[in-house]
Amino acid sequence: MINAIAVPAFRDNYIWLVHDAANRTVIVDPGDAQPVLAALAHHALTPVAVLITHHHHDHTGGIGDILARYPVPVLGPARESIPAVTRRLNDGERICVPSTSMEFTVLDVPGHTAGHIAFFGHNTLLCGDTLFAGGCGRLFEGTPVQMYCSLQKIARLPETTKVYCAHEYTEDNLRFAAAVEPNNADLRARIAAVNQLRRNNLPTIPSTIGEEKRTNPFLRCDEPDVRAAAIAFADMPPESADQVFAALRSRKDRF
Ligand SMILES: [Zn+2]
Repeated sequence: MINAIAVPAFRDNYIWLVHDAANRTVIVDPGDAQPVLAALAHHALTPVAVLITHHHHDHTGGIGDILARYPVPVLGPARESIPAVTRRLNDGERICVPSTSMEFTVLDVPGHTAGHIAFFGHNTLLCGDTLFAGGCGRLFEGTPVQMYCSLQKIARLPETTKVYCAHEYTEDNLRFAAAVEPNNADLRARIAAVNQLRRNNLPTIPSTIGEEKRTNPFLRCDEPDVRAAAIAFADMPPESADQVFAALRSRKDRF
């Protein structure tokens, strides 16, 4: 049994503290050390490892100060250059977090960055800036086809999987989703629920894979309404589902 605590950082990042019943904790994507150290003390958590999904500074900038206080292993992507990483992970690798019963499978999910990885285990997905609640990451280094394939890989996980992404972008993402699929009843219900959470200043995360498949347009590129929206957005009518994805992503960049 594991639990995750959201540590807000910067404007809209979440750093996740995933811990077991004995409070042994993995720190996921610590862009900033100070709020992490404060939360560890507040919740009486003992860090045993740092997990990194990709190299961006808002996910890695706090590693040094955390290691100065807690010299724990840092597990991160093999295909990105992150000097603090002590164990470089490849697709399909299974990791056992030291001195805990936590185990995760590593998934290669390129698109936002070229070597981005996600961690899946205990009905939990830690996916950094790949899949967001109601949306997906920008394509800084990868191609639309790469990101489409990464999201399809994530969509094949069990529907009950809890999705822990790294930013609170949900309201904006769902505004775009509603422009794509104005007649999606599940989406309208989700928007109402998310607006309520944000009015109370609560995180909208985690969601589930099932919820994302019903409401996130980037996981719905085969749906007729999503396809029709992509045709309206694109200069060239998209033919395949990955071209629908590319048209949506490009439109969202300017939304
Ligand atoms: Zn990023």
